[in-house]
Parts: sequence; C-alpha cells; structure tokens
Amino acid sequence: MASTISCKYNIIYKLGSKKWIGFKFYMKYVDIENLDTLPGRRLGEGDTFSFHCYPGIACFNRCCRNLNLFLYPYDVIRLKNRLEISSDQFLDKHADVMLRPSNFFPEVLLRMSEDKERTCPFLNESGCSVYPDRPDTCRTFPVEQGVLYNAETKKTELVHFFRPPDFCLGQHENKVWTTQSWSQDQEAVLYNKMTVRWSELKSLFQTDPWGSQGPEGPEGKMAFMATYNIDRFRDFLFNSTFLKRYKVKSALLKKIRTDDVELMKFGFEWVKFYVWGLKTRYLKLR
Ligand code: SF4
Ligand code: SF4
Repeated sequence: MASTISCKYNIIYKLGSKKWIGFKFYMKYVDIENLDTLPGRRLGEGDTFSFHCYPGIACFNRCCRNLNLFLYPYDVIRLKNRLEISSDQFLDKHADVMLRPSNFFPEVLLRMSEDKERTCPFLNESGCSVYPDRPDTCRTFPVEQGVLYNAETKKTELVHFFRPPDFCLGQHENKVWTTQSWSQDQEAVLYNKMTVRWSELKSLFQTDPWGSQGPEGPEGKMAFMATYNIDRFRDFLFNSTFLKRYKVKSALLKKIRTDDVELMKFGFEWVKFYVWGLKTRYLKLR
C-alpha cells in the first residue's frame, strides 16, 4: 500500500457524539434489531405519507438553516460541476471534513455560513441556487434515509423514515406519496443509487484498516482523495506511477479520463483493493 503522492483533508475535527444532531439525516448504519426504536415513522415499500412544499408556504426555506448536511461523493461531483470549480476548490471552500468517533473514514459536511442561523451558502432570496444539483439529503427530505447492512450477504439497503421537523408545514398538506414516487418526483433515483454504492464501501470502515497511522495517515488521505477529491484523483492517476503499477483496460481508462462518475466508481473499487485487498474487475496489479 505504498503511496507516492501526498494529498490533504481540509480540516479534521473530532466531534463529541452529542454534536451529531441535525434536521437532515446522515448515512447511518443501523442494526436490524434497533430499527423500530429510531425516531420518525418507518416507511416500507408502498407506505404513504402526506407532504407538499411550495414557494409561499410560511416555513419556506426554514429547513435550509442550522443543519449538519452530509455530502456523499456523488453530491460533491454534482455541486462542483454546477459551480464550475474543481473538487479540490469545492472541498476547500464548502466542506468540513470530520472524523466521527468510532468510525474510520471521515465524513464530509457542507460548510454553513457563519451567520447566526448557520444558513446554507446556496440559499438565496428565491430559494436554492443549486436546486438541479442539490445534495441527495435535500432531495429526500423530509424523508430520511438510513442504510441497513446485512452482514451475511454483505449488501446494504436503504431504509426510510418520515421525519419532518415540527416547523415543517408541508407535512400538513394533502399530497400523498410513497418513498418511490417521492424519489422520482425529486429526481433522486440516481442519487439514491450512488448513495447505496458509496455506503457499501463506507460500511467497510466500521472496522479499522489503518493500524498505527490512523485514518489521517497517508493511506487514509489517498482513500479520501480517490472517493471525494475526484479531480485530484484523476491527476494522480494519469500523472504518477499509478498506471505503471496497475493494469486498467483501455476502454475504461478512456472513460475515466473525462467522466467524473465513472472515475468515482473506479475510485471506490481501487479503495476496496488498495485498503481492503478485495478483488475487482476494474484493475489488476502489474
Ligand atoms: S415545507 Fe418543509 S421542506 Fe418545505 S420549505 Fe417548509 S420546512 Fe422546508
Ligand atoms: S443545498 Fe439547497 S436545498 Fe439543500 S440546504 Fe442548501 S439551499 Fe437548501
């Protein structure tokens, strides 16, 4: 697991668990036995909830303040492309990278403005300025997603809870949804897929692969780069000894040269191989 390039996290905070409270859910691994003790109403396939949000509702945009908004790798790609900046610039300017106690991979949160209300930096007078590329969590809200990990099949699945905060008046409206119809309406289907893909890799980090160097060591930084800092990863891949050490099919190489999402998927597979020694069809050691 030798690395020849250095890369950075922006900031690493260690947070006490009591600070991990927010209106919007983060990707949380739950034990099947504890599912019914989680807050909110669990929504199974076909279960319905009532909700409608529209400009003019009295609470409009109140939910875009004072949040811990977790970003996943696909969110970062969509947002940095929307803002026409590199992933490096995005992470520097808009993200806080934090290490949760008893987890071995950092979390990425959208950095809120420093005003009294901790307003989302993308909120303006007419609403969300990045709406077509808003993060997965914002799309799914007020439904919250959790990730259920099946240790036997090593597969993850999304679980859903209807959990609007009290101030959210949309819950008193009459439009009826299932999680599926809500996801389609919010154009969240692809986002949800990418979140599940990420959660499959992230679930591995419930155990410590880093040993004495810890998650902030060089290998941890490489893994962070390959998942969250996609433009820097591309630079590393094509301008280091990477391709002398790994064999990657030329058709795939062609794709990942320009396609961020394909590169993100490749990065996930590389991390599985590099950190966990898991075989992948994406690459081989030379
Ligand atoms: S109805 Fe709920 S989701 Fe819509 S603006 Fe109000 S608080 Fe936010
Ligand atoms: S990204 Fe948009 S929808 Fe999400 S919190 Fe910010 S302003 Fe609100």
